[in-house]
Amino acid sequence: MSKDNNCIFCKIIDKQISANIVYETNNLMAFHDANPVARLHLLIIPKTHVASINDLDEAHAHVIADMILLAKQLARTFGVNESGYRLVMNTGKQAGQSVFHLHVHLLGGRDFSWPPG
Ligand code: AMP
Repeated sequence: MSKDNNCIFCKIIDKQISANIVYETNNLMAFHDANPVARLHLLIIPKTHVASINDLDEAHAHVIADMILLAKQLARTFGVNESGYRLVMNTGKQAGQSVFHLHVHLLGGRDFSWPPG
């Protein structure tokens, strides 16, 4: 499992930095975003360090599938599966990516506009 010692999410995985963790397996972790932009704002991350979608290859296919399936499960757990929710993966600076460790934002509990800002 690859790790970047300068990565804040790798530090959360290693419990060097605390987070409000809601789910953890050998491969995945989910925790509340420190600066939520919706009533529900979770981050779903792989434990292996991948900087962004740009760094994915076929070997990561199961990780991506597991992240989406976990998002579905957590949406239900946190009661937004019926009302609706949004999954976001910012990729690159212009898209607003600020942490370069792959993550899915699970946003719910409010109305969302389209197109996104
Ligand atoms: P992005 O801008 O798409 O890269 O998303 C990174 C997200 O990580 C932002 O929404 C931040 O609020 C969140 N974040 C950064 N540091 C932490 C942390 N230590 N614990 C929880 N969330 C964090």
